[in-house]
Amino acid sequence: SHDSTPPMPWFGMDIGGTLTKLVYFEPTDLSEAEEESEVETIKNIRRYLKSNSAYGDTGHRDAHLQMEKVRVGNRTGTLHFIRFPTSEMPQFLELSKSKGMATLASTICATGGGAYKFEEEFQREMNLTLHKFDELDCLIRGIEYIEDNNNYNECYYFLNPRNEETCEKVTYDFSNPYPFLVVNIGSGVSILAAYGPESYRRVSGTSLGGGTFLGLSCLLTGCKTFEEAIELAAKGNNENVDKLDTHLGSWPQNEISEIYWNFGHMNSAEKRAKVSREDLACATLITITNNIGSIARMVAANQKIEKVLFVGNFLRVNPISMKLLSHAMEFWSGGQLKAIFLEHEGYFGAVGCMLELMR
Ligand code: ADP
Repeated sequence: SHDSTPPMPWFGMDIGGTLTKLVYFEPTDLSEAEEESEVETIKNIRRYLKSNSAYGDTGHRDAHLQMEKVRVGNRTGTLHFIRFPTSEMPQFLELSKSKGMATLASTICATGGGAYKFEEEFQREMNLTLHKFDELDCLIRGIEYIEDNNNYNECYYFLNPRNEETCEKVTYDFSNPYPFLVVNIGSGVSILAAYGPESYRRVSGTSLGGGTFLGLSCLLTGCKTFEEAIELAAKGNNENVDKLDTHLGSWPQNEISEIYWNFGHMNSAEKRAKVSREDLACATLITITNNIGSIARMVAANQKIEKVLFVGNFLRVNPISMKLLSHAMEFWSGGQLKAIFLEHEGYFGAVGCMLELMR
């Protein structure tokens, strides 16, 4: 019997500053009787969610991340991963309404700052009550769940991150996870330390994150989207922007050392006249990434934690940053620190939030 579980449909929603992440559980173990008695609306929603890999112009189902035959509560089914810009929330509400979501009169589990911001609108427009959950609780629970349920295919790291020919993506065995650090790179950055399943806390963060990268890239290059900014960056050379300078320091012993001075060349009118959009996007990406890497390294040293998980949608389609972070972690710690990445990047908060339904 399925009595102990809440009524379908099961969703989890993470309404972030930039992107809204939606996770939907589709049961595949329906008995014939269940199938017959299922409300038409639920069938419609399922058909709709599955039929499209694009929702309007801006919504997107990440079909490549879909997880089959997973257990949620006491059911077996498929997990679907959907995202859209948070700025499109009114259109999303309109669409959901037209698909009959409002008539189900249920509750939706939501997390992220937007869960507060849009609470009233959900109530008014769709008669839906948002059950709100703590972002960091959801994030950690989501990571643990996906790691346990993705047949050891979730975590990976980069071997030889600096060498294009020999660089390799390798699966990482995360079956013995604690303690670990989570660096969540969304619009901003949060850093959590996890010591055990119920023991974790936010230890640091920075407001210079993915939102800063995208905002500065748009300003400096006139690009319009994250994907475009990343494509530009891949073609650019940051050495036309960043300045490698010498520095006579008191450490170790009045030695000359080399330091990078991000955007240093842009102090010169001559260099500014020659710089390309690609170079600027590249330098912006590297500046933001290295800053996050430095902070992550300091926090890891402080907490005496060696495994550093990087998540968040800033890492979407962004191998440049992943490889930079991999190198920075390893190199500056003398090989002690390991940068670990996860296939479901930005969806952990939404997954953890959906799991709250089962508690
Ligand atoms: P948040 O919860 O703050 O919205 P996310 O983890 O969803 O955070 O990450 C948002 C960041 O991901 C953006 O600031 C941007 O750098 C990057 N990003 C990746 N893909 C997109 C996209 N399609 N649209 C906008 N930003 C994107």
